[in-house]
Amino acid sequence: LKIIKNIKEMQATSEKIRTEGKKIVLVPTMGYLHNGHLSLIRQGKEHGDVANMSLFVNPTQFAPNEDFEKYPRNFEKDCFSAEKSGCDILFAPEASEMYPSDYASFINIGGITKKFEGAFRPNHFKGVATVVAKLFNATKPHFAIFGQKDYQQSLVVKRLAEDLNFDLTIIVAPTVREADGLAMSSRNVYLSPEERSKATILFTAMEEAIEAIQAGERRRKVINAIMHNHLRKLPEIKIDYASAADASNFDEPEEFVQGQLIVLLLAVYLGKTRLIDNALVSLPSAISSKPKSFIDGLEHIERQSD
Ligand code: AMP
Repeated sequence: LKIIKNIKEMQATSEKIRTEGKKIVLVPTMGYLHNGHLSLIRQGKEHGDVANMSLFVNPTQFAPNEDFEKYPRNFEKDCFSAEKSGCDILFAPEASEMYPSDYASFINIGGITKKFEGAFRPNHFKGVATVVAKLFNATKPHFAIFGQKDYQQSLVVKRLAEDLNFDLTIIVAPTVREADGLAMSSRNVYLSPEERSKATILFTAMEEAIEAIQAGERRRKVINAIMHNHLRKLPEIKIDYASAADASNFDEPEEFVQGQLIVLLLAVYLGKTRLIDNALVSLPSAISSKPKSFIDGLEHIERQSD
């Protein structure tokens, strides 16, 4: 595993790899790696020859009241896990390397950044778009792979790449879950054992909504109410949003139409920890007597990214 901390050195290394005719896959992360991150390296290697994982806790995507300072970090362990999963290069710049004191450029994306995460974390996607563009320029990838776990982020990054003509392909990989359905996240470490056992409620709320949709429920507010009512069963949950929307543009119609791909988007506080999750499900063209499983919803993204 080659560890690079300097942008110029990263660019020269990537340039050399490109002249050798090899394909580079970038896997951007904030570290404290879990199996979700590692699955991205493995899938990345199916597309390219060289996997470059970036590890950078990006200060510009955190609001002053958020968890930048206490975000979990373990560089040594991350190096070990990344290498074991087939990572070739770890790009781990310091904040001062990415944002020198005279730094002044930021990328603002309109439209989809205004809703859901963007409504609750107003400058979050500005920080994400900026750092992702900088990572693209530093690592010169042919492919960049993101997790469905951060569904809105994956749409924002696709918008960024298309609008600013980045010459690369964005791949979105399915969410990796714990055995009880909780989506893996570096932030899960904040949960007390008692909260951890209750955190599966995000998954079960989506399961209930998916069951209703697959049985033909198309009224958006009814779908949202199913998730809200389920989440409200736990008094320690505070809901930021639990909403169904069109999976491609976040439109929120009164009723979804047959065959439409719907995304269920959730952000809740469980105690002091903010958790997000999502699932994809399409409104069936014809109601099948045999309901499909939850996992069917997640498979859409794999097909989309093929
Ligand atoms: P983060 O380190 O949280 O910024 O995440 C880095 C990348 O890993 C992002 O593209 C995330 O969407 C992705 N990711 C995080 N958790 C998961 C998961 N449970 N399954 C798949 N991808 C994930």
